[in-house]
Order: sequence, then structure tokens, then C-alpha cells
Amino acid sequence: MTQYQFSEEQRALREAARKFAQGVLVPAAAENERTGVEFPKAVLRDMAKHGLLGLDVPVEYGGQGLDTLSCALILEELAAGWFSSTIFAMNLATGPLLAAGSEAQKKKFLGGICNGEIVPAFALTEPAGGSDAANIKTRVAREGDGYVLRGQKIFITNAHRADVIIVFARSTADAPRGKGISIVLVEKGTPGLKIGQRFETIAHGANPIWEVVFDECRVPRENLIGAEGEGFSYIQKDFAKIRAVYGSRCVGVAQAAIDYALQYAVERVQFGQKVASFQGIRFKVAELVTKIEAARQLSYRAAAMADEGHHEAPVAASMAKIFASQVAVEVTGEAMQLLGGHGLLRLHPLERMYREAKLFQIGDGTSEVLKLLVSRHANKRATDRQSARVD
Ligand SMILES: Cc1cc2nc3c(=O)[nH]c(=O)nc-3n(C[C@H](O)[C@H](O)[C@H](O)COP(=O)(O)OP(=O)(O)OC[C@H]3O[C@@H](n4cnc5c(N)ncnc54)[C@H](O)[C@@H]3O)c2cc1C
Repeated sequence: MTQYQFSEEQRALREAARKFAQGVLVPAAAENERTGVEFPKAVLRDMAKHGLLGLDVPVEYGGQGLDTLSCALILEELAAGWFSSTIFAMNLATGPLLAAGSEAQKKKFLGGICNGEIVPAFALTEPAGGSDAANIKTRVAREGDGYVLRGQKIFITNAHRADVIIVFARSTADAPRGKGISIVLVEKGTPGLKIGQRFETIAHGANPIWEVVFDECRVPRENLIGAEGEGFSYIQKDFAKIRAVYGSRCVGVAQAAIDYALQYAVERVQFGQKVASFQGIRFKVAELVTKIEAARQLSYRAAAMADEGHHEAPVAASMAKIFASQVAVEVTGEAMQLLGGHGLLRLHPLERMYREAKLFQIGDGTSEVLKLLVSRHANKRATDRQSARVD
């Protein structure tokens, strides 16, 4: 059974992240709701100055070199301030580079990603393949001394401002499912790289999502990450880590929402009483904070299991993300309810958190797809137990 305890250093990291989130991210998020502009470079630089970028990237490549549990603690605090900051603190795009990138690729990109000067994008989803990522149609072919990409991606976060895009493409047409996918780096300005339409979303607008088209897009041979056809194997290793910390992001937003709502409810008087003192409200709040704590512990445990390399870490991480995202949706909705009509005002951050929470059940593996993984595990465990009894 995986146990975890926080060291003094981890507590200090959490404290520092909380201070930064409350001092810098909370006002930045509120300002962004007014302006609707993209995530500010100035905030990125500030995050870099405070050691809040490249959390999981080794120190030798310019990152913080933290274990998954420490990342979870920090991301929980950052998400409580402004969820949109967390995708920079720990970016999906660094995973393949760390798993299989050449020394030259790591040196070229990781330092810049960790100091906020390079914005990366991660391009997997296509019109025909979101959950079913193995079904991607974008093709990459070796031609002459390089590779040529042809195809289309959608929903790619920050593609319009990305200095480099990590692209998943099919290199072998008839490979078995999950095989034959290669990862290629495409830098800004590469001929044939076209940023298409922007998809307007209800949340997370500071990091907008875009269509990306590869029209005979040629990249040099050294832009291939790892070996041809092995792309998926490089990201699969990261799933446990990514989904465990996603759980902590959800927890951060849920905690921030209930904290905000309670501050309001202890002041607001109706029927001659503070709203927070009605028994109906107190019971509801008790249930919500209990669920938040359960989600928090599931996420920490999943993070600790990822650090341990536990064989059930991917399942634990899926459970954490499924549950924590569901809790975030429920808590942000109930937090708005606690404010009554005020809950719907854009003056308060709750309606933003409510909109963000919906994304948590979809990004980085939808709840339904993660449930398939968890149920497979449950079935296997049941069978193993049954055969142990028979033997
Ligand atoms: C704000 C935002 C940012 C994003 N950023 C990126 C990015 O940077 N890079 C990137 O590559 N992608 C990105 N995406 C895409 C995201 O990863 C996909 O939207 C997600 O994986 C779901 O894929 P889909 O939209 O094609 O839905 P589909 O796969 O079509 O799913 C539709 C519904 O069917 C369900 N479903 C699918 N398969 C099953 C099954 N076997 N059993 C039961 N239910 C099933 C799903 O859970 C879902 O409810 C982003 C999306 C959003 C909204």
C-alpha cells in the first residue's frame, strides 16, 4: 500500500505556490475575464522567476526537477488561483521530449519552455480521433533528407502562439492499433504549417484552441522524436503522472470555489440569520468539503504511486481524475448556488470556475474513456480473486 508524507521542502513549495497564486494569479485571472486576451507573457515570466514552470523537467534542462507528488501540491495551489496557469507549470509537450528526445532537442527546447520564452503546443486530436487517438489520419512520410506532414489537427491549445508544436502523425498505414505513430517537432514559420480557425470555448479562453493544417509541411530529419512508429509508447509512460496531477488541479479549483462561497455565506443574512448558519447549508458544505478531501487524497496517492513506479499507478491516476473532475463540477455549481443570484455575476470568480470545471471531465482523457481503464482493472481484480479462492 503506497504511503506518502510531506517533507518540509514540499510544505514550503506548497506555501510559496499558494502565495504566488493568491498574490499574482487571482488578480490576473480576474483581469483576464475583463480583457479576454491570451495568457500574458508577463505572468509566464513571473512564474518562471518563482520556479513555477517546468515543474517535472530535470534541473539540468532548466526545470525544477520535482517528483509527481510535489508537482501535485503546487498545481493544486496554482489552479486555485487560475487554472489556465497550470498548463504552463507542467506542459504535456515536455513529456515526449523527456521520454525520447535527443540531447540536441532537449537543449534546444526545454530551457526555453522552462523560462517562459518558448510556448509549446501538443497536437494529437483530429476531427476523426479524439478519444480514439490511435485512429489519427495525419500522415508523416520520410522524403529525401527530412519528413513531410500532411493532415489536420483540431483543438490544439495555443497553436497560434506556439514556437514549437509536438505533432503525432501516422508513419505506417497498416500498423497494429497504437503502433505506427511517430512524433515530429514542427517549429513556428515552417513552410506548410498553417494555423486555421479558432474554436471559441466557454472556458480557458486565455489558452485558446485552434485548427492546425499541415500542407506538405517539411521538417528536417532531426525533428523526429525517438524512433519512427513508437510515438504512443513515449506518452503512455506519462499517463499516470499527468492524470494524477490533473486530479490535483480539479481539487484546487473546487477548494477555491467553496472557500470563496463560504466567505460570502458567513456575511450574507437572510431570514435574520447568516446564510452559512442554516442547517441545510451546513450539511451541504460538510458533504462538499468531504468530497474535496477524498479527491485530494486520491490524487496525492496516485501521484505518490506514479513516483514509486507502482504497476497500478495508471489506474489510481484515472480514478483520481474521474472523481476529482466530478467533484469540481459539483462543488463549483453548489458554490455558485450558495451566492444565490450573485453567483451568476461575472464580478465573482465562481461562474468562471464552473465553466472551467466542465473542461476537466474532457481534457487529457474523458471520464468515460478513463472509466474503461478502471473497469478493466476491476474485472481483472475480480477474476484474480476468484481464481485465488478456487485454487
Ligand atoms: C479546451 C480544450 C483544450 C484542448 N487542448 C488540446 C491540445 O492541446 N491538444 C490536443 O491534441 N487535443 C486537445 N483537446 C482535445 C481533447 O483532448 C479532446 O476533445 C478529447 O480527447 C475528447 O475527444 P473528442 O472531442 O474527439 O471527443 P470524442 O472522442 O468524439 O468523444 C465524444 C463522447 O464520447 C465518449 N466516448 C468516446 N469513446 C468512448 C468509449 N469507448 N466508451 C464510452 N464513451 C466514449 C467521450 O467520453 C465523449 O463523451 C482540447 C480540448 C478542449 C476542449
